[in-house]
Amino acid sequence: MKKIALLGSTGSIGTQTLEIVREHKDLEITALAAGRNVSLLEKQIREFQPKLAVLWEEQAAKDLRRRVQDLPIKILSGMEGLLEIAVMPESEILVTAIVGMLGIRPTIAAIEAGKTIALANKETLVTAGHLIMPLAKKNHVSILPVDSEHSAIFQSLNGEHGNKIHKILLTASGGPFRGKKREELQKIQVEDALKHPNWSMGRKITIDSATMVNKGLEVMEAKWLFDVNLDQIQVVVHPESVIHSMVEYEDGAVIAQLGTPDMRLPIQYALYYPERRSLSGKRLDFFELASLTFEKPDLDTFQGLRLAFTAMEQGGNIPTAYNAANEKAVALFLDRKISFLQIPEIIQTCMETCVFEKQPNVEKILETEAEVYALIESRWSF
Ligand code: NDP
Repeated sequence: MKKIALLGSTGSIGTQTLEIVREHKDLEITALAAGRNVSLLEKQIREFQPKLAVLWEEQAAKDLRRRVQDLPIKILSGMEGLLEIAVMPESEILVTAIVGMLGIRPTIAAIEAGKTIALANKETLVTAGHLIMPLAKKNHVSILPVDSEHSAIFQSLNGEHGNKIHKILLTASGGPFRGKKREELQKIQVEDALKHPNWSMGRKITIDSATMVNKGLEVMEAKWLFDVNLDQIQVVVHPESVIHSMVEYEDGAVIAQLGTPDMRLPIQYALYYPERRSLSGKRLDFFELASLTFEKPDLDTFQGLRLAFTAMEQGGNIPTAYNAANEKAVALFLDRKISFLQIPEIIQTCMETCVFEKQPNVEKILETEAEVYALIESRWSF
């Protein structure tokens, strides 16, 4: 029996993780956490019967406590609750599927408690990769990627026994605005940006795909996960999203993982690694695939991707500034307070005004986040 604690159970990755657990008798949920979605979390508790559940907001947790008083379950709130889930002795794997830098502390606590991490929350590595990766190594803990591209790279490294990576080819669908020029993006509305051509995901990450900031975050995530230099990561736009990413080795061989766009595959792979289990759903039919195409990313139109390379080159707390600025800017865009093209503009301003810190600890990372949020509140939130 594999025992799983799941942070972000009511979200896109969280609910798909539970779909997998539902289909397998040898997977068990020990704990669930969400932000404030009381009614869905209650349903999940009744179905999966965890020992512990957390809602970020105390008021929502109170409501949940009242609703499930007939069950033998502990309900907590806030960071204290997330940290308790991270270290609970009953679980073996922590799936981190919450959004934002909130994931850093629970991930650190879980690593220190020796838990395997199935990592979806990319913000954790983007902002604190320099703390997380050495800590995982020290504690002999595996960080198993859930992001489909990183899972593809991880799968392409199987059996290579230390052979050096020459290059990572990180594929990108290009999002709904692939092929458009900057001028054409001026009047983009929220509804246009929420239409992803291939993947069905949460709202924030769907906007990140439209700006290609998501690919920028993935570049940073890949650098930390696979310990490569930035110039060894090449973004390849591949609109069909069939090749989920590739690794080129020193002899020129390129190993790739292909599949239909279905997040359940990388989630299940992380839960059962190194075993492969059967998975329902559509399979790739090569006779149906008319062609697979590839393009260079347009870094002039998609400034968010260009800025990610700059942020990572600068290092320190600049990737935190990049990520925090993007989070706030996306929220403002979704609230129709700023335009689509202002998202990268805000990111750039925040990266330029942030006070540089070479080796930020968790406190400094969170301080940088707060400073960026405050700057955006004062300049753009009205
Ligand atoms: P969603 O927005 O769909 O879900 C976010 C989850 O986090 C929800 O369960 C939400 O709860 C919970 N949450 C939000 N705030 C808090 C909080 N303060 N405390 C506890 N829980 C909280 O996001 P996604 O599932 O799309 O993404 C999750 C992470 O996975 C992100 O880091 C994303 O970048 C990454 N990822 C996502 C992919 C995808 O296909 N969606 C692919 C690869 C990576 P509530 O519902 O109550 O608000």
